[in-house]
Amino acid sequence: MTETKQIIHPDKDRFLGDENPFEQMMSRFDVAASLLKLDPGLYKVLRNPEKQVIVSLPVMMDSGETEVFTGYRVLYNTSRGPAKGGIRFDLGVTLDEVRALAAWMTWKCAVVNIPFGGSKGGVICDPLSMSPGELERLTRRYTASLIAILGPDSDVPAPDVNTNERVMAWIMDTYSMHKRHTVTSVVTGKPLEMGGSAGRREATGRGCMIMAREALAHLGRSLKGSKVVVQGFGNVGSIAAQLLQQEGAVVVGVSDVSGGLYREGGLDVNDVIAWREAHRYVAGYPKADPVKNEEFLTLPCDVLLPAALENQITKRNAADIKAKVIIEGANGPTAAAADEILDRKGVFVVPDILANAGGVTVSYFEWVQDRDGYFWTEEVVNQRLEEIMVRSFRHVLEMSQKHQVNMRIGAYTLAIQRVAAVHKLRGMYA
Ligand code: GLU
Repeated sequence: MTETKQIIHPDKDRFLGDENPFEQMMSRFDVAASLLKLDPGLYKVLRNPEKQVIVSLPVMMDSGETEVFTGYRVLYNTSRGPAKGGIRFDLGVTLDEVRALAAWMTWKCAVVNIPFGGSKGGVICDPLSMSPGELERLTRRYTASLIAILGPDSDVPAPDVNTNERVMAWIMDTYSMHKRHTVTSVVTGKPLEMGGSAGRREATGRGCMIMAREALAHLGRSLKGSKVVVQGFGNVGSIAAQLLQQEGAVVVGVSDVSGGLYREGGLDVNDVIAWREAHRYVAGYPKADPVKNEEFLTLPCDVLLPAALENQITKRNAADIKAKVIIEGANGPTAAAADEILDRKGVFVVPDILANAGGVTVSYFEWVQDRDGYFWTEEVVNQRLEEIMVRSFRHVLEMSQKHQVNMRIGAYTLAIQRVAAVHKLRGMYA
């Protein structure tokens, strides 16, 4: 007989007090809601997720044993359109984190004004220790468990931390098998061969590069010669670093879970990517100095791009940050308590719900192309992404100037105003 084990969160109390991501989100939401004098009834509606699903996922492991994983999907708000948001596979996933990420997706889609609500999914697992077969069975079981929720008009997943095109292909296939016909638009971030969009893989990093360029231009500076430090070397960080370097920035630091690298004169990003591909991690790269992760964010630079996980910039290290501009490639990398410290230092922060919105923007393009059955060239995708990112930066900046607040509160205010407007128009169905 096979043994059945429950995978439990190894550190389930990791978000205590001021680091609970949902509380982080809500504390900014509250400031924006009071600036907007949000109707108290609507306030109550918008601070609650519409739907939260927890599923137990039995998976046959390669050893023949059965493991039971826990998965979540939260649909935060769907007033503006189908729920949209990625799925992450990580040991650190919690319901509060998924709920915060789903709320951020709602605000993010509203900031860039694409017709989606927000959702997020997560499975507590250690994907790096699982075989491709185990990951496939986990993904298919998760998809099947959520079959009543997913759909091109209801909830459309995408990649997030530790999920990729391969995982999206399994989701699309599982969903299509249940529906008895191929449904490409149920998921975005798919391989190009099966309805993916040109430019989607690079989109979040490209959006970050555009935001760095716009932020520097607003401060009367340029990307050319600006020193950049990038935390996280996954899909977002490595591509943002590559594009920033192509635009003339000097990437002086990069890091991943294995540690950081620093070279005052600039790293050759493509060379570091080649090293990481050969050695799995950036650590050990010979043409740079190693830096401990605790010291990495306070390295001297003009632009800091956190592109890893939540709560990296906190009240413990914010005062020591040297960058003039922060571009939040990750979701929630700055704890709410650090906002004020950064404001006092005059750091210009392009918040996550704007800075990393390039990914979901091209997800929107992918969904449109799938539904049309007509595909755009990479030039068209990039040009439309550029237009949306530049316009959204301007809208957030205008909102922050109007209310005399930082860019983060400007972005929340813009997003909540747009979501609230639709709620008012639709009215309440009771
Ligand atoms: N996971 C990405 C994000 O946090 C992309 C979401 C999507 O494309 O739906 O924005």
